[in-house]
Amino acid sequence: MTTVAANPAATPSAVDVGIVGADVRIPLVTGEQVEYANFDYAASAPCLGAVRRRLEEALPYYASVHRGAGYHSQVSTDAYEAARRSVARFVGARGNDAVLFVRSTTDALNLLARSVPDGCTVVVFAGEHHAALLPWQHRGARAGRVVRLPLPAGPEDAVAAARAALLDAPEGPRLLCVTAASNVTGEIWPVDELTAVAHSAGARIVVDAAQLVPHQAFSLSRSGVDYVAFSGHKLYAPFGAGVLAGRTDWLRAAVPYLAGGGATASVTEDDVRWNDLPARHEAGSPNVLGAVGLAAACDTLRAAGQELLHAEEQALLDRLRAGLAAIPGVHDLSLWDAGGPRVGIVSFVVDGIAADLLAAALSAEYGIGVRDGLFCAHLLTRELLPPGHAQAVRASLGLGTTAAHVDRLVAAVAELAERGP
Ligand code: PLP
Repeated sequence: MTTVAANPAATPSAVDVGIVGADVRIPLVTGEQVEYANFDYAASAPCLGAVRRRLEEALPYYASVHRGAGYHSQVSTDAYEAARRSVARFVGARGNDAVLFVRSTTDALNLLARSVPDGCTVVVFAGEHHAALLPWQHRGARAGRVVRLPLPAGPEDAVAAARAALLDAPEGPRLLCVTAASNVTGEIWPVDELTAVAHSAGARIVVDAAQLVPHQAFSLSRSGVDYVAFSGHKLYAPFGAGVLAGRTDWLRAAVPYLAGGGATASVTEDDVRWNDLPARHEAGSPNVLGAVGLAAACDTLRAAGQELLHAEEQALLDRLRAGLAAIPGVHDLSLWDAGGPRVGIVSFVVDGIAADLLAAALSAEYGIGVRDGLFCAHLLTRELLPPGHAQAVRASLGLGTTAAHVDRLVAAVAELAERGP
Protein backbone atom coordinates (compact mmCIF):
# COMPACT_ATOMS: atom_id res chain seq x y z
CA MET A 1 0.00 0.00 0.00
CA THR A 2 1.32 3.43 -0.90
CA THR A 3 0.43 6.33 1.33
CA VAL A 4 1.51 9.93 1.08
CA ALA A 5 1.63 12.52 3.79
CA ALA A 6 -1.70 14.25 3.82
CA ASN A 7 -2.29 17.60 2.24
CA PRO A 8 -3.00 19.52 5.47
CA ALA A 9 -5.48 21.72 3.67
CA ALA A 10 -7.51 18.72 2.62
CA THR A 11 -7.49 16.07 5.30
CA PRO A 12 -6.03 15.43 8.73
CA SER A 13 -4.73 11.92 8.01
CA ALA A 14 -2.63 10.12 5.41
CA VAL A 15 -4.56 9.23 2.26
CA ASP A 16 -4.35 5.77 0.76
CA VAL A 17 -3.30 5.96 -2.86
CA GLY A 18 -2.47 2.28 -3.10
CA ILE A 19 -3.49 0.53 -6.29
CA VAL A 20 -5.31 -2.73 -6.77
CA GLY A 21 -3.02 -5.50 -8.00
CA ALA A 22 0.23 -3.74 -7.11
CA ASP A 23 1.65 -7.01 -5.76
CA VAL A 24 0.51 -9.28 -8.60
CA ARG A 25 3.20 -11.75 -9.69
CA ILE A 26 3.41 -12.93 -13.26
CA PRO A 27 5.29 -15.74 -15.03
CA LEU A 28 8.32 -15.00 -17.18
CA VAL A 29 9.10 -17.06 -20.27
CA THR A 30 11.43 -19.13 -18.06
CA GLY A 31 8.53 -19.97 -15.73
CA GLU A 32 10.00 -17.85 -12.91
CA GLN A 33 7.40 -15.69 -11.09
CA VAL A 34 8.20 -12.00 -10.67
CA GLU A 35 6.35 -8.91 -9.49
CA TYR A 36 4.75 -7.22 -12.48
CA ALA A 37 6.39 -3.87 -13.23
CA ASN A 38 3.67 -1.82 -14.88
CA PHE A 39 4.94 0.97 -17.12
CA ASP A 40 1.71 1.38 -19.07
CA TYR A 41 -0.25 3.82 -16.93
CA ALA A 42 -0.74 6.19 -19.86
CA ALA A 43 -2.85 3.57 -21.65
CA SER A 44 -4.98 2.71 -18.60
CA ALA A 45 -4.10 3.10 -14.95
CA PRO A 46 -4.98 0.30 -12.53
CA CYS A 47 -7.79 0.92 -10.07
CA LEU A 48 -7.10 2.68 -6.76
CA GLY A 49 -7.98 0.72 -3.62
CA ALA A 50 -10.12 3.70 -2.58
CA VAL A 51 -12.04 3.42 -5.85
CA ARG A 52 -12.68 -0.28 -5.31
CA ARG A 53 -13.97 0.42 -1.79
CA ARG A 54 -16.35 3.13 -3.04
CA LEU A 55 -17.63 0.79 -5.75
CA GLU A 56 -18.19 -1.98 -3.21
CA GLU A 57 -20.24 0.44 -1.11
CA ALA A 58 -22.31 1.47 -4.13
CA LEU A 59 -22.90 -2.03 -5.52
CA PRO A 60 -25.63 -3.17 -3.09
CA TYR A 61 -27.72 -0.23 -4.30
CA TYR A 62 -27.12 -0.97 -7.98
CA ALA A 63 -30.07 0.58 -9.84
CA SER A 64 -30.90 2.90 -12.72
CA VAL A 65 -30.55 6.59 -11.91
CA HIS A 66 -33.10 9.34 -12.55
CA ARG A 67 -35.69 6.69 -13.43
CA GLY A 68 -36.96 4.66 -10.51
CA ALA A 69 -38.93 5.64 -7.42
CA GLY A 70 -37.51 2.77 -5.36
CA TYR A 71 -35.01 3.21 -2.55
CA HIS A 72 -32.10 1.76 -4.51
CA SER A 73 -32.79 4.08 -7.39
CA GLN A 74 -32.82 7.07 -5.06
CA VAL A 75 -29.53 6.04 -3.44
CA SER A 76 -27.94 5.45 -6.85
CA THR A 77 -29.24 8.77 -8.16
CA ASP A 78 -27.81 10.58 -5.13
CA ALA A 79 -24.47 8.82 -5.62
CA TYR A 80 -24.44 9.75 -9.32
CA GLU A 81 -25.14 13.42 -8.62
CA ALA A 82 -22.64 13.47 -5.74
CA ALA A 83 -20.12 12.08 -8.23
CA ARG A 84 -20.84 15.03 -10.53
CA ARG A 85 -20.12 17.44 -7.66
CA SER A 86 -16.85 15.65 -6.87
CA VAL A 87 -15.76 15.95 -10.48
CA ALA A 88 -16.75 19.64 -10.50
CA ARG A 89 -14.46 20.21 -7.50
CA PHE A 90 -11.66 18.18 -9.11
CA VAL A 91 -11.66 20.32 -12.27
CA GLY A 92 -12.25 23.59 -10.39
CA ALA A 93 -15.48 24.15 -12.29
CA ARG A 94 -16.97 27.62 -12.31
CA GLY A 95 -20.41 27.94 -10.71
CA ASN A 96 -22.26 27.71 -13.99
CA ASP A 97 -20.12 25.11 -15.81
CA ALA A 98 -21.70 21.88 -17.00
CA VAL A 99 -20.15 18.60 -15.87
CA LEU A 100 -21.21 15.84 -18.25
CA PHE A 101 -20.53 12.17 -17.77
CA VAL A 102 -19.54 10.59 -21.07
CA ARG A 103 -17.72 7.38 -21.97
CA SER A 104 -14.17 8.69 -22.39
CA THR A 105 -12.05 11.57 -23.65
CA THR A 106 -12.77 10.44 -27.21
CA ASP A 107 -16.50 10.60 -26.51
CA ALA A 108 -16.17 14.00 -24.78
CA LEU A 109 -14.36 15.60 -27.71
CA ASN A 110 -16.74 14.11 -30.27
CA LEU A 111 -19.64 15.49 -28.24
CA LEU A 112 -18.06 18.93 -28.20
CA ALA A 113 -17.32 18.72 -31.93
CA ARG A 114 -21.02 18.18 -32.53
CA SER A 115 -21.96 20.98 -30.17
CA VAL A 116 -19.88 23.86 -31.54
CA PRO A 117 -21.96 26.47 -33.35
CA ASP A 118 -22.35 26.13 -37.11
CA GLY A 119 -19.42 27.52 -39.05
CA CYS A 120 -17.05 27.40 -36.05
CA THR A 121 -13.36 27.51 -37.00
CA VAL A 122 -11.41 24.92 -35.04
CA VAL A 123 -7.65 25.30 -34.67
CA VAL A 124 -5.72 22.21 -33.66
CA PHE A 125 -2.07 21.17 -33.66
CA ALA A 126 -0.97 18.25 -35.81
CA GLY A 127 0.64 16.56 -32.79
CA GLU A 128 -2.61 15.85 -30.99
CA HIS A 129 -3.78 12.41 -29.97
CA HIS A 130 -6.26 11.25 -32.63
CA ALA A 131 -9.11 11.78 -30.14
CA ALA A 132 -8.36 15.50 -30.20
CA LEU A 133 -7.19 15.71 -33.82
CA LEU A 134 -9.99 14.01 -35.71
CA PRO A 135 -13.47 14.75 -34.27
CA TRP A 136 -13.51 18.24 -35.80
CA GLN A 137 -13.45 16.84 -39.35
CA HIS A 138 -16.39 14.58 -38.63
CA ARG A 139 -18.98 16.93 -37.28
CA GLY A 140 -21.33 16.74 -40.22
CA ALA A 141 -23.67 19.65 -40.68
CA ARG A 142 -21.89 21.79 -38.14
CA ALA A 143 -18.74 21.76 -40.24
CA GLY A 144 -16.74 24.93 -40.40
CA ARG A 145 -13.05 25.26 -41.09
CA VAL A 146 -10.48 23.06 -39.40
CA VAL A 147 -7.03 24.65 -39.29
CA ARG A 148 -4.33 22.11 -38.56
CA LEU A 149 -1.14 23.75 -37.36
CA PRO A 150 2.26 22.10 -37.89
CA LEU A 151 4.22 20.89 -34.88
CA PRO A 152 5.59 23.96 -33.13
CA ALA A 153 9.34 24.27 -32.47
CA GLY A 154 8.74 25.21 -28.84
CA PRO A 155 6.06 26.41 -26.41
CA GLU A 156 6.48 30.03 -27.49
CA ASP A 157 6.03 28.98 -31.13
CA ALA A 158 2.87 27.12 -30.18
CA VAL A 159 1.43 30.25 -28.62
CA ALA A 160 2.45 32.45 -31.56
CA ALA A 161 1.06 29.99 -34.14
CA ALA A 162 -2.24 29.65 -32.27
CA ARG A 163 -2.57 33.42 -31.98
CA ALA A 164 -1.91 33.94 -35.72
CA ALA A 165 -4.35 31.19 -36.77
CA LEU A 166 -7.13 32.40 -34.49
CA LEU A 167 -6.74 36.02 -35.58
CA ASP A 168 -6.70 34.90 -39.20
CA ALA A 169 -9.93 32.89 -38.85
CA PRO A 170 -13.08 34.24 -40.50
CA GLU A 171 -15.61 36.11 -38.37
CA GLY A 172 -17.65 33.84 -36.17
CA PRO A 173 -17.05 31.32 -33.41
CA ARG A 174 -13.56 29.88 -33.00
CA LEU A 175 -12.21 27.09 -30.88
CA LEU A 176 -8.62 26.14 -30.08
CA CYS A 177 -8.08 22.49 -29.14
CA VAL A 178 -4.88 21.50 -27.32
CA THR A 179 -3.57 18.53 -25.41
CA ALA A 180 -2.41 19.56 -21.96
CA ALA A 181 0.21 16.79 -21.69
CA SER A 182 1.42 14.71 -24.62
CA ASN A 183 0.73 10.99 -24.44
CA VAL A 184 3.92 10.43 -26.48
CA THR A 185 6.54 12.65 -24.86
CA GLY A 186 4.85 13.64 -21.60
CA GLU A 187 5.60 17.25 -22.44
CA ILE A 188 3.24 19.75 -20.84
CA TRP A 189 1.81 22.37 -23.16
CA PRO A 190 1.56 26.05 -22.19
CA VAL A 191 -2.16 25.93 -21.47
CA ASP A 192 -2.35 29.23 -19.57
CA GLU A 193 -0.66 31.16 -22.38
CA LEU A 194 -2.76 29.42 -25.04
CA THR A 195 -5.89 30.26 -23.09
CA ALA A 196 -4.86 33.90 -22.96
CA VAL A 197 -4.27 34.10 -26.74
CA ALA A 198 -7.49 32.23 -27.48
CA HIS A 199 -9.51 34.62 -25.37
CA SER A 200 -7.78 37.72 -26.70
CA ALA A 201 -8.68 36.53 -30.22
CA GLY A 202 -12.31 36.05 -29.16
CA ALA A 203 -11.95 32.25 -29.27
CA ARG A 204 -12.58 29.45 -26.80
CA ILE A 205 -10.18 26.71 -25.79
CA VAL A 206 -10.78 23.03 -25.06
CA VAL A 207 -8.08 21.08 -23.26
CA ASP A 208 -7.61 17.34 -23.67
CA ALA A 209 -6.45 16.60 -20.14
CA ALA A 210 -6.47 12.79 -20.43
CA GLN A 211 -2.74 12.63 -19.61
CA LEU A 212 -2.54 15.68 -17.38
CA VAL A 213 -5.09 15.09 -14.63
CA PRO A 214 -3.66 11.71 -13.50
CA HIS A 215 -0.39 13.55 -12.77
CA GLN A 216 -1.14 17.17 -12.01
CA ALA A 217 -3.94 19.35 -10.68
CA PHE A 218 -6.03 21.25 -13.20
CA SER A 219 -8.61 23.98 -12.65
CA LEU A 220 -11.06 25.47 -15.10
CA SER A 221 -11.60 28.52 -12.94
CA ARG A 222 -7.90 29.15 -12.31
CA SER A 223 -6.79 28.59 -15.93
CA GLY A 224 -9.81 30.17 -17.61
CA VAL A 225 -9.98 27.16 -19.98
CA ASP A 226 -13.47 26.85 -21.47
CA TYR A 227 -13.79 23.04 -21.70
CA VAL A 228 -11.84 20.10 -20.34
CA ALA A 229 -12.08 16.42 -21.26
CA PHE A 230 -10.60 13.34 -19.57
CA SER A 231 -11.12 9.60 -19.03
CA GLY A 232 -11.73 7.62 -15.84
CA HIS A 233 -9.63 4.65 -16.91
CA LYS A 234 -6.48 6.79 -17.05
CA LEU A 235 -7.32 8.21 -13.61
CA TYR A 236 -7.24 4.95 -11.61
CA ALA A 237 -10.94 4.23 -12.15
CA PRO A 238 -12.66 1.63 -14.33
CA PHE A 239 -13.29 1.93 -18.06
CA GLY A 240 -16.41 3.43 -19.58
CA ALA A 241 -16.70 6.78 -17.81
CA GLY A 242 -15.22 10.10 -18.83
CA VAL A 243 -15.94 13.79 -18.43
CA LEU A 244 -16.62 16.84 -20.53
CA ALA A 245 -16.85 19.94 -18.34
CA GLY A 246 -17.15 23.58 -19.25
CA ARG A 247 -19.32 26.38 -20.57
CA THR A 248 -22.98 25.61 -20.99
CA ASP A 249 -24.23 27.79 -23.86
CA TRP A 250 -22.95 25.78 -26.85
CA LEU A 251 -23.82 22.51 -25.15
CA ARG A 252 -27.28 23.74 -24.18
CA ALA A 253 -28.00 24.91 -27.75
CA ALA A 254 -26.77 21.73 -29.45
CA VAL A 255 -29.00 18.85 -30.47
CA PRO A 256 -27.71 15.77 -28.61
CA TYR A 257 -25.40 13.65 -30.75
CA LEU A 258 -26.61 10.67 -28.77
CA ALA A 259 -30.41 10.67 -29.06
CA GLY A 260 -32.49 8.58 -26.70
CA GLY A 261 -34.20 8.27 -23.35
CA GLY A 262 -33.09 10.64 -20.61
CA ALA A 263 -32.04 13.27 -23.15
CA THR A 264 -35.68 13.97 -23.93
CA ALA A 265 -38.14 16.16 -22.01
CA SER A 266 -41.08 15.14 -24.21
CA VAL A 267 -41.70 13.18 -27.39
CA THR A 268 -44.87 13.41 -29.50
CA GLU A 269 -45.72 12.02 -32.95
CA ASP A 270 -44.17 15.00 -34.65
CA ASP A 271 -41.97 16.72 -32.07
CA VAL A 272 -39.08 16.05 -29.72
CA ARG A 273 -38.18 18.43 -26.93
CA TRP A 274 -34.72 17.84 -25.53
CA ASN A 275 -33.90 18.06 -21.85
CA ASP A 276 -31.67 20.74 -20.39
CA LEU A 277 -28.11 19.97 -19.29
CA PRO A 278 -26.73 17.66 -18.08
CA ALA A 279 -29.37 15.07 -19.07
CA ARG A 280 -29.48 16.47 -22.61
CA HIS A 281 -26.08 14.92 -23.36
CA GLU A 282 -26.36 11.80 -21.21
CA ALA A 283 -28.87 9.78 -23.25
CA GLY A 284 -29.47 6.18 -22.28
CA SER A 285 -29.15 4.67 -18.81
CA PRO A 286 -26.17 6.42 -17.25
CA ASN A 287 -23.07 4.53 -16.16
CA VAL A 288 -23.58 5.11 -12.46
CA LEU A 289 -20.77 2.88 -11.23
CA GLY A 290 -18.41 4.44 -13.78
CA ALA A 291 -19.26 7.91 -12.49
CA VAL A 292 -19.00 6.85 -8.83
CA GLY A 293 -15.61 5.19 -9.42
CA LEU A 294 -14.28 8.15 -11.36
CA ALA A 295 -15.42 10.54 -8.64
CA ALA A 296 -13.77 8.37 -5.97
CA ALA A 297 -10.49 8.70 -7.86
CA CYS A 298 -10.96 12.48 -8.11
CA ASP A 299 -11.66 12.76 -4.37
CA THR A 300 -8.70 10.57 -3.45
CA LEU A 301 -6.19 12.42 -5.61
CA ARG A 302 -7.41 15.78 -4.30
CA ALA A 303 -7.24 14.61 -0.70
CA ALA A 304 -3.74 13.19 -1.19
CA GLY A 305 -2.57 16.46 -2.71
CA GLN A 306 -1.75 16.19 -6.39
CA GLU A 307 1.30 18.42 -5.95
CA LEU A 308 2.85 15.87 -3.55
CA LEU A 309 2.13 12.99 -5.93
CA HIS A 310 3.56 15.02 -8.80
CA ALA A 311 6.79 15.70 -6.89
CA GLU A 312 7.24 11.99 -6.12
CA GLU A 313 6.61 11.08 -9.73
CA GLN A 314 9.07 13.70 -11.01
CA ALA A 315 11.87 12.10 -8.98
CA LEU A 316 11.10 8.72 -10.59
CA LEU A 317 10.83 10.30 -14.02
CA ASP A 318 14.25 11.96 -13.64
CA ARG A 319 15.69 8.64 -12.52
CA LEU A 320 14.24 6.87 -15.55
CA ARG A 321 15.30 9.48 -18.06
CA ALA A 322 18.82 9.66 -16.64
CA GLY A 323 19.08 5.86 -16.66
CA LEU A 324 17.93 5.55 -20.27
CA ALA A 325 20.14 8.45 -21.41
CA ALA A 326 23.20 6.60 -20.11
CA ILE A 327 22.55 3.55 -22.35
CA PRO A 328 24.34 3.70 -25.72
CA GLY A 329 21.91 3.60 -28.66
CA VAL A 330 18.84 4.74 -26.70
CA HIS A 331 17.07 7.89 -27.92
CA ASP A 332 14.20 9.47 -26.07
CA LEU A 333 11.56 11.29 -28.10
CA SER A 334 11.08 14.96 -27.32
CA LEU A 335 9.36 17.63 -29.31
CA TRP A 336 10.94 20.46 -27.38
CA ASP A 337 13.85 21.24 -25.11
CA ALA A 338 14.53 18.14 -23.05
CA GLY A 339 14.46 20.19 -19.82
CA GLY A 340 10.84 21.41 -20.13
CA PRO A 341 7.99 20.33 -17.82
CA ARG A 342 6.66 16.79 -18.29
CA VAL A 343 4.40 14.21 -16.77
CA GLY A 344 5.67 10.68 -16.19
CA ILE A 345 5.79 9.47 -19.79
CA VAL A 346 8.92 8.60 -21.79
CA SER A 347 8.92 7.25 -25.34
CA PHE A 348 12.18 5.91 -26.67
CA VAL A 349 13.83 3.74 -29.30
CA VAL A 350 16.91 1.54 -29.16
CA ASP A 351 19.10 1.47 -32.23
CA GLY A 352 19.02 -1.88 -34.00
CA ILE A 353 15.99 -3.27 -32.13
CA ALA A 354 12.42 -2.94 -33.42
CA ALA A 355 10.08 -1.44 -30.83
CA ASP A 356 7.65 -4.38 -30.87
CA LEU A 357 10.45 -6.88 -30.27
CA LEU A 358 11.86 -4.76 -27.48
CA ALA A 359 8.45 -4.47 -25.81
CA ALA A 360 7.85 -8.21 -26.17
CA ALA A 361 11.22 -9.04 -24.65
CA LEU A 362 10.66 -6.65 -21.73
CA SER A 363 7.41 -8.46 -21.00
CA ALA A 364 8.44 -12.07 -21.53
CA GLU A 365 11.93 -11.96 -20.06
CA TYR A 366 11.66 -9.25 -17.41
CA GLY A 367 7.98 -8.97 -16.44
CA ILE A 368 7.86 -5.32 -17.47
CA GLY A 369 4.76 -3.95 -19.24
CA VAL A 370 5.31 -1.09 -21.71
CA ARG A 371 3.50 -0.06 -24.88
CA ASP A 372 4.95 0.01 -28.39
CA GLY A 373 3.63 1.63 -31.55
CA LEU A 374 2.68 5.13 -32.64
CA PHE A 375 0.38 5.76 -29.64
CA CYS A 376 -2.68 7.07 -31.53
CA ALA A 377 -0.66 10.17 -32.34
CA HIS A 378 0.76 9.05 -35.67
CA LEU A 379 1.70 12.47 -37.00
CA LEU A 380 3.66 13.41 -33.89
CA THR A 381 5.35 10.08 -33.27
CA ARG A 382 6.46 9.63 -36.89
CA GLU A 383 7.92 13.13 -36.85
CA LEU A 384 9.92 12.42 -33.69
CA LEU A 385 11.28 8.99 -34.62
CA PRO A 386 14.99 8.94 -35.52
CA PRO A 387 15.81 7.57 -39.00
CA GLY A 388 15.56 3.78 -39.25
CA HIS A 389 12.79 3.47 -36.65
CA ALA A 390 9.13 2.82 -37.51
CA GLN A 391 7.71 2.74 -33.99
CA ALA A 392 8.71 3.54 -30.41
CA VAL A 393 8.39 2.08 -26.93
CA ARG A 394 6.55 4.07 -24.28
CA ALA A 395 7.16 3.75 -20.54
CA SER A 396 4.64 5.61 -18.39
CA LEU A 397 4.62 6.00 -14.63
CA GLY A 398 1.86 6.10 -12.06
CA LEU A 399 1.09 5.75 -8.38
CA GLY A 400 2.29 2.14 -8.20
CA THR A 401 5.69 2.87 -9.74
CA THR A 402 8.69 2.49 -7.45
CA ALA A 403 12.40 3.27 -7.81
CA ALA A 404 12.98 -0.50 -7.94
CA HIS A 405 10.68 -0.76 -10.97
CA VAL A 406 12.55 2.06 -12.68
CA ASP A 407 15.90 0.42 -11.99
CA ARG A 408 14.57 -2.90 -13.33
CA LEU A 409 13.41 -1.23 -16.55
CA VAL A 410 16.69 0.62 -17.06
CA ALA A 411 18.74 -2.54 -16.39
CA ALA A 412 16.56 -4.58 -18.77
CA VAL A 413 16.82 -2.03 -21.58
CA ALA A 414 20.58 -1.86 -21.06
CA GLU A 415 20.88 -5.67 -21.34
CA LEU A 416 18.68 -5.84 -24.43
CA ALA A 417 20.52 -2.93 -26.07
CA GLU A 418 23.82 -4.64 -25.47
CA ARG A 419 22.54 -7.97 -26.76
CA GLY A 420 21.28 -6.27 -29.94
CA PRO A 421 18.86 -7.65 -32.55
N1 PLP B 1 -6.14 12.09 -25.40
C1 PLP B 1 -4.96 11.64 -24.95
C2 PLP B 1 -3.84 12.61 -24.74
C3 PLP B 1 -4.79 10.29 -24.70
O1 PLP B 1 -3.62 9.83 -24.28
C4 PLP B 1 -5.87 9.41 -24.93
C5 PLP B 1 -5.73 7.95 -24.73
O2 PLP B 1 -4.68 7.39 -24.90
C6 PLP B 1 -7.08 9.93 -25.37
C7 PLP B 1 -7.18 11.28 -25.59
C8 PLP B 1 -8.26 9.05 -25.62
O3 PLP B 1 -8.70 8.55 -24.41
P1 PLP B 1 -9.86 7.43 -24.42
O4 PLP B 1 -9.29 6.27 -25.17
O5 PLP B 1 -10.09 7.14 -23.00
O6 PLP B 1 -11.01 8.04 -25.11
